Amino acid sequence: MLSWNVGSAVVTSIVESETPTSPRFLYEGLTKQVVLDRAVESTWLRPHFVDDDGFLLQKIQCLVIEVDGLVIAVDTCVGNDKPRENEHWNHLDGPFLAELAEAGYPAESVTHVVCTHLHVDHVGWNTRMVDGAWVPTFPNARYLFVDAEYRHWEDEQSLFPTDDVFGDSVAPIAAAGLADHIEPDHRLSPSVGLASTPGHTPGHVSVVIESDGQRAIITGDMTHHPLQLADPSVSSKFDTDPDQARATREAVFPDWADGQTLVIGTHFGTPTAGFLLPDGDGYRLDWDAAADLRR
Ligand SMILES: [Zn+2]
Repeated sequence: MLSWNVGSAVVTSIVESETPTSPRFLYEGLTKQVVLDRAVESTWLRPHFVDDDGFLLQKIQCLVIEVDGLVIAVDTCVGNDKPRENEHWNHLDGPFLAELAEAGYPAESVTHVVCTHLHVDHVGWNTRMVDGAWVPTFPNARYLFVDAEYRHWEDEQSLFPTDDVFGDSVAPIAAAGLADHIEPDHRLSPSVGLASTPGHTPGHVSVVIESDGQRAIITGDMTHHPLQLADPSVSSKFDTDPDQARATREAVFPDWADGQTLVIGTHFGTPTAGFLLPDGDGYRLDWDAAADLRR
């Protein structure tokens, strides 16, 4: 289990699934050969993030932040029992909640849930099925939804049209009175705040942790895969506004790339996090330099 110290904060990764992904699932026109060519230029991408066949090595994970007396679950994966068009996500029956508890965070201990955005792989464990109904998984938590993001998906169909993501994973939270509508620059505590990183979706946010002089960022999907660090101009085909997504990366990376900010990629394969550094026309992730932060 991956875990990092960020000052007095502890960030722990609870992985729901880890699979090689075809680059064309995420990126229009990006073949495996193009990915392999990119990895010749940016050698750091292999073997951790790109395999020998040009597949992208990715995971779906929840990142739990413990600091300032709070337990904050950032992004809640796909979830169990959800009917989903994607066969890899349909009616899952995984041990996510048991693993969360094993890590020291039983569902009752979570004080806040933050969804960087409301896509299917970021809201699933918001709810679970009990006696035929979707109920909040984290009964003692406030669930924070960026208002613009909530309003967008309230009216918009899901990425995969037959999935009722909003209906089974967001609406029940509001019905239970556990939803808080927030602005994208919301602050949760002295050490944890959000940063607006729109483009992947209209109200997309990243999470910023600052404690005792150390800083970390949880990206969300404004960068799906480290190859977008190497080439920030590459936008995902799931971006609602690819140009805005590109502009967001180009705006924030120079700030993040100070060589001492731990950038934690929400879908990045292991080692998942490292210091961001300028590299040619883009950036690279240096996880060895950040090894002291690993727990
Ligand atoms: Zn995602």
